[in-house]
Amino acid sequence: MNVYLITGASKGIGLALSKELMSENNVLICVARTTNEELLQLGKEKECHIVFLEYDLVNIEGLEELIKTMVAHLPANPHSITLINNAGVVDPIGRTENNKAEGINKSITLNLTAPMVLSSAFIKHVKDYPIQKKIINISSGAGRNPYTGWSSYCASKAGLDHYTRVVSQEQDGEINGVKIISIAPGIIDTGMQEKIRSVDEKDFELVGRFIDYKEQGQLSSPEFTAQKLKRIIESKTFNKLDPILDLREL
Ligand code: NDP
Repeated sequence: MNVYLITGASKGIGLALSKELMSENNVLICVARTTNEELLQLGKEKECHIVFLEYDLVNIEGLEELIKTMVAHLPANPHSITLINNAGVVDPIGRTENNKAEGINKSITLNLTAPMVLSSAFIKHVKDYPIQKKIINISSGAGRNPYTGWSSYCASKAGLDHYTRVVSQEQDGEINGVKIISIAPGIIDTGMQEKIRSVDEKDFELVGRFIDYKEQGQLSSPEFTAQKLKRIIESKTFNKLDPILDLREL
């Protein structure tokens, strides 16, 4: 059996990926602020052991407990255990001088600190399991190229990438270490894109381009993205992957 902890599983990419990973051979521990009842129902139909934990990931003090919960759900003789750090926000959108402290703090906490704390606790608590262990960080092209109006988001995802590089090096030296990757998924038709298209041009000068992407059908579906992610996560050559990846190039 394979165990997955998926953050941001109630909507968008996280929801599609949870559905894609749903099978009787997998155990899913889903996290978001709101339970997705449809996902739980689907779990019953597919005889997949699924737990949905309502949790606001900006409360970083409780994140180690989340990892302990995941470890507590390990079945006898599990095949693998995977943490998928997917939850994220694009806010605050707007020129830096207009960003408020609260928005900047929330962005960095959810997009960067929470994945770091979860990864740290994960590595610690699964250390003695002689099984395949993986961390998938959902990054963004915004962490690799600057976008004016997205300074916090760009900084958080660039941080997530660089954190991944360091942890990857550390774990490379371990016997039965955790394999960690940071993957940019492309441009996906989710609530996050809806939010991006809704802002004023003075806050995000490329808003017109993102409206065009939608109107010209250039967004990937969450389902297609989830299928590609699943193929990568389950790939036999997963351990040989570069730590920094772009889903569009795979
Ligand atoms: P959505 O806005 O559709 O979904 C975000 C998910 O994160 C929801 O399940 C939401 O659940 C959860 N979430 C948000 N805030 C919190 C919180 N404080 N605590 C717990 N869960 C939270 O976004 P996407 O699916 O588009 O994005 C998923 C990931 O993909 C993000 O990391 C994003 O940066 C990345 N990405 C997305 C792209 C795109 O084009 N869509 C492009 C590049 C990267 P709830 O509200 O119930 O808490």
